[in-house]
Amino acid sequence: MVSKVFKGAAIGLFIFLSLSLSSLYASNKDFFIGNIKVPPGEAKSDYLSVPEKDGISTRIPLTVINGSREGRVLALIAGVHGYEYPPILALYRLKKMIDPAALSGTLVLVHIANLPGFQKRIIYYNPYDWKNLNRVFPGDPDGTISQRIAFVLKEEVIDRCDYLIDLHCGDGNEALIPYCYWMVSGNEEIDRISKEMVLAFGIKHIIIDRTRSKDITNSKYLGNTGILLSKPAITTESGYLGKTDEESIVRNIKGILSVMKLFKMIEGEPEFVSDPIWIESYKVIYSKHDGLFYPLTKMGYHVVEGETVGFITDFLGNVKEKLKAPFSGIILYIINTPPISKGEPIFEVGKAK
Ligand SMILES: [Zn+2]
Repeated sequence: MVSKVFKGAAIGLFIFLSLSLSSLYASNKDFFIGNIKVPPGEAKSDYLSVPEKDGISTRIPLTVINGSREGRVLALIAGVHGYEYPPILALYRLKKMIDPAALSGTLVLVHIANLPGFQKRIIYYNPYDWKNLNRVFPGDPDGTISQRIAFVLKEEVIDRCDYLIDLHCGDGNEALIPYCYWMVSGNEEIDRISKEMVLAFGIKHIIIDRTRSKDITNSKYLGNTGILLSKPAITTESGYLGKTDEESIVRNIKGILSVMKLFKMIEGEPEFVSDPIWIESYKVIYSKHDGLFYPLTKMGYHVVEGETVGFITDFLGNVKEKLKAPFSGIILYIINTPPISKGEPIFEVGKAK
């Protein structure tokens, strides 16, 4: 009798465990993006097409790693600015590191969002329309090449993901310390998740950004577009001056793996920043002149209000402008190559909470 009861209980426990395990590890479904179909447990690399207009078209190289188990879809986007290399190199490495059989959910790796900018080694812009891809979201299928890239990314990547990370670094001309943007939307649930993401990414300096548009037709930024479409998103910055240094690449990879752990896509616990420095206010100072810029301070240095952080000369060598710190704070980035054009950013200063 006892053994019968025991047997019955054991069978019951077995069925219960099998059911809970099967719901916990439900197998995944096919993932579709562009013309690409990726079955569960497989990875595929291919291109998204950006249709031709006025003789100009491009394509976006990506990899989809579709886990064998059900889970969330995390999109990682590099190369929105084509001269920002560490995030681009990090995603190619990550592609080799992730085993689809050990993955829950789906990773979408956009390797180089702005391929024309990358190929021509252009900072900020796309060489065919001289627009900044990270200012033209949500894009326009009938617009210029940057607007059409943005539209394809919105339709194919943002709309299909649950969460996204827009990976940047100092551009080819920018000396920049690692930092992230936590974009506060006012939607409590989204802001809570994006805050966890930014802490899991592991970079100490975090800008609290309340300045982004709440209008989806004018979302401008990739990350902001995600947030306005209810996809928690963060923007990260790791790398500087067109370098391909190991430290900046590894920082990107570690951050991504930690966020994947946060969403239970891979085994392990996320490593949250233990001592975040929240930057409550920040200001970007733009040039009023064309010419040459001479920095007098360095990335990561503290400046005091009114301190001269650099000056601009014209092409004949005459000083045209001295740039002052608008308030005391840390130099998050500063231009570190001579060319400067009117209207372009020169430095960003942030004030900690
Ligand atoms: Zn960038």
